[in-house]
Amino acid sequence: MPARREGGIPNLSASQDAITVDVRAAPNDLKDSELGRWETMPSVRVAVNGYGTIGKRVADAIARQPDMQLVGVAKTRPSFDAGVANARGYPLYISGDSEISEFQAAKLAVKGRVEEMLRACDVVIDCAPEKVGKENAHLYRDAGVKAIFQGGEKATVAEASFSAMANYGACLGRTTLRVVSCNTTGLARAAAVLREKWGVTDWEATIVRRAADPAESDRGPINGILPTFHLPSHHGPDVRTIFPDLSISTTALIVPTTLMHVHVNRVRLDRAPASTEEVREAFRGLPRFHMFQPWERVEGTPQVMEFARDRGGPRPDVMENVLWEAGMNWDGTSLHFFQAIHQESIVVPENVDAVRAVCRLAPDAESSMAITNRTLGLGALSA
Ligand code: NAD
Repeated sequence: MPARREGGIPNLSASQDAITVDVRAAPNDLKDSELGRWETMPSVRVAVNGYGTIGKRVADAIARQPDMQLVGVAKTRPSFDAGVANARGYPLYISGDSEISEFQAAKLAVKGRVEEMLRACDVVIDCAPEKVGKENAHLYRDAGVKAIFQGGEKATVAEASFSAMANYGACLGRTTLRVVSCNTTGLARAAAVLREKWGVTDWEATIVRRAADPAESDRGPINGILPTFHLPSHHGPDVRTIFPDLSISTTALIVPTTLMHVHVNRVRLDRAPASTEEVREAFRGLPRFHMFQPWERVEGTPQVMEFARDRGGPRPDVMENVLWEAGMNWDGTSLHFFQAIHQESIVVPENVDAVRAVCRLAPDAESSMAITNRTLGLGALSA
């Protein structure tokens, strides 16, 4: 078991004695030699402000890191996920103006308000709704902690936009970072591979967007296909916050599904690959990608998510870019490929790597991603 940092997670009060889960329990698949090395790693205290779709996944991921300590999560209102946070042993704090009595009435154990959580951490990961992160930024400045924001914020919220495979090194030691959105993360990862191997002349992508996350019962459409009348869409410029010189143009439309986004890509490369197989080979074995083979009969996103439920791991999520061998073709001029993006989880490993970057816990992307991939089971069951 990795050593706990002295004065780390504060002791819970007597009324919270039911909380017994060790949030830093190491995953089962670690070798003893690795655990021995990790016991000597520094432990950075991380807090998560906003405990919704992204926040709860990020909290679970941080809790699995050997060099990080989850010191708390903050929620605005009592809800079932606050109960889960209690059950997982995550110290629970209140964001916003809810009264502690509201949480107490729901028999939820609360440790304090968000300002207290910020005093207990070195880095906060803001997972509040789109545009609310910017409003929270002053809290983090006042507390003197490093802050990581999400892709729902404008790029100007932070010193730099972040994607681990693309610009980890340039983000080392920064005070604030923004992990780019789910679609931008998917495009940036693929761009990192294609640029390094062959160079990208230009890229056109159509982004077929899910209408809502599965838990969002008040969003739609439930019928119809809605083109985004902002041409080109904002995704291309967002990718350029990571790769300023990348020629990329995107359009988007929303369809009635909750499972995943799908990107339809046409990329002209600077140097021609010998074959489609050469391109597949470049992605195979990279833990941040999962490529399905034809025999697996994965026809689309329903089977991808069923695969996620079946393979096990920390959550039934797909944090990898999903590719299909059959959904990739180099036609001698352009590379055509589909990729599916699980919007609820793809940014989770990038948030973990962003913490390592701002705290200089790992010197380069490879070292950070190796730990993140291993602890989160990325690339498990890959071809
Ligand atoms: P969400 O609505 O599921 O969760 C946000 C949580 O923050 C909720 O629990 C809400 O109660 C809480 N909250 C509200 N006001 C707050 C405040 N002032 N301070 C702290 N917490 C507050 O949202 P989400 O989908 O998790 O999105 C969070 C961020 O991640 C956004 O920037 C979003 O654009 C980005 N993002 C979302 C997805 C996705 O598909 N859901 C994918 C990638 C990135």
